[in-house]
Amino acid sequence: MAKPLEYNATLKERIDLTDALSIFRIEPDQPPTRPWFVPGQYCVLGANNLEKPELGSVRRSMSIASAPEDEGPTEFYIRWVAKPESENPFTHLLWKIKAGDRMYMRPVAAGVFTIKDTIGLEDTRLRVMVAAGTGSAPFVSMVRSELNRNPKADLSKWVLLHGASYPADLGYREELMRLSETNGLKYWGTVSRPKEAPGWTGDVGRVESFFDAARLPDLEKRLGLPPGGFTPQNVVIYICGLTGTITGTVIPLIDRAFIPDFKRIREALGVPADAKDSVFYEQYDTEPVINVKDPSVVEPLRERMQAALARL
Ligand SMILES: Cc1cc2nc3c(=O)[nH]c(=O)nc-3n(C[C@H](O)[C@H](O)[C@H](O)COP(=O)(O)OP(=O)(O)OC[C@H]3O[C@@H](n4cnc5c(N)ncnc54)[C@H](O)[C@@H]3O)c2cc1C
Repeated sequence: MAKPLEYNATLKERIDLTDALSIFRIEPDQPPTRPWFVPGQYCVLGANNLEKPELGSVRRSMSIASAPEDEGPTEFYIRWVAKPESENPFTHLLWKIKAGDRMYMRPVAAGVFTIKDTIGLEDTRLRVMVAAGTGSAPFVSMVRSELNRNPKADLSKWVLLHGASYPADLGYREELMRLSETNGLKYWGTVSRPKEAPGWTGDVGRVESFFDAARLPDLEKRLGLPPGGFTPQNVVIYICGLTGTITGTVIPLIDRAFIPDFKRIREALGVPADAKDSVFYEQYDTEPVINVKDPSVVEPLRERMQAALARL
């Protein structure tokens, strides 16, 4: 049992988008000197189980959705997990916390899922951000930060593809649509249960289906790329969320020679050591993205990667 956490922060505000999706704005007692994180990083939130003290406390990593330059509380976009794995799920404790209540927030950020730590700030390629559910949080932080530093920033190299079951689950949609109009952000939301969303006129299907071979030409057109131009020469991919989204994006993009930033996958697919990574991901669960130990999985993918690299 994890020992009780000493609370050091206050939940200032929560915005419940649905029963299971909320934005939390949390303020540590001792606000760190800004900027204390880089867009794309996460920090650790925690709570004690007050109803069942015998279960102790729990801490979980959460991507930061606010920008480093923002004044006031730090923002997080969190889903209540319906089928947790642990006996003391954090999200179930968090959902009982109201504005004004105390909680734990480690005011130290971590993670290398940042532009700086991956392709570098000067890289001019399109940055295609793929998110399902709350996986959009780090990308929201990134575009907000661009705007904070320059309200007239040209966001046309930022592409955000956001998937959810229903339109109401597409958090931050209004803000992102506004940025499409004012700053050229390329943003498309897609819903996987359109039959239950009458009136929805946007894209349908899971977010990773944008990368199906049959749909890639449409994405190329939307992005102003020539046919066949969706390649690592022009595009870099960032994915955030659960394994299904990551695997579903990584695998079709093997045929376009996109190289995942994960040593064991690179090795399994026979990627030359000097080839640069072009797919970066932040994974919210622990399932393997590709089962590199299973030859029946790896061999066909390896062949596809070798063929794609040879076409370059
Ligand atoms: C670096 C990092 C950043 C993260 N950032 C966020 C974030 O910004 N927002 C957020 O909601 N979660 C985020 N998570 C997931 C979070 O840390 C917890 O795993 C999640 O909140 C479930 O914790 P729990 O204790 O309630 O459930 P647990 O008992 O720990 O159950 C874990 C299981 O919950 C499921 N799960 C985890 N995250 C999600 C999710 N977002 N949506 C649906 N199912 C999920 C998975 O199947 C996982 O195996 C992040 C995880 C990591 C590693």
